[in-house]
Amino acid sequence: MAYETKALFRDDAYLATAEGVVLAINEHGGIVLDATNFYATSGGQPGDIGYFERSDGSRIEIAATVTGETKNEIIHIPAEGQAVPEIGEKLTLHVDWPRRFRLMRMHTACHLLSVVCPFPITGAAVGEEESRIDFDLPDPSYTRENVTERLMEMVRANAPVSTRWITDEELSANPGLIKSKNVRPPIGNGQIRLVVIGEDGTIDSQPCGGTHVAGTQEVGEIHIGKIEKKGKENRRFRIRFGSLPLV
Ligand SMILES: [Zn+2]
Repeated sequence: MAYETKALFRDDAYLATAEGVVLAINEHGGIVLDATNFYATSGGQPGDIGYFERSDGSRIEIAATVTGETKNEIIHIPAEGQAVPEIGEKLTLHVDWPRRFRLMRMHTACHLLSVVCPFPITGAAVGEEESRIDFDLPDPSYTRENVTERLMEMVRANAPVSTRWITDEELSANPGLIKSKNVRPPIGNGQIRLVVIGEDGTIDSQPCGGTHVAGTQEVGEIHIGKIEKKGKENRRFRIRFGSLPLV
């Protein structure tokens, strides 16, 4: 049977700690809670790591967070050799915040890159040090210099980043919201989460279940590390932290 975990990170990406009660331990030792601030791997964003604190102060290190049978069942995978909590036990959940915040900055940067390069996305991955997006983009006029400049303009403008929910029908009526060729938004649940950048989405709106910073300035200094040509019409852009190195 699939359990339902309340995904606290969906409403508040800044919850570095939270409380959860153990609902189940699966056959692989994975811990299922009633609620969690640990993001589960999906949509190109890696799941959280961190630790659970027990009432006696001891720790259970968490090495990965993934979804289970359904997207609403979140499974925390302990590192090897950790103590197993009791069913019903209340735990304090500590996300590895420096790592998560870097992923939030990177993930938000990916949205900004999709604004600078408004082309169909064929693949994407968010990483702690580097992220990448593959675009169907035959036009060679997008360079690391001019794309970096436009990204940093949006970062400095400090546009608000927020979320709102729309219905399947609203999404079907606005097919332009979907930028990814390969990843279909989860139509059929009735509600789709939109990530909105700028007042009323003036900069961008797209379906996304990940975690983002609240204002684009928090992304900080980023640059395009490398643009690789992948086949005739495909280009891979890498986003890195820091300023564009002088070559
Ligand atoms: Zn996103």
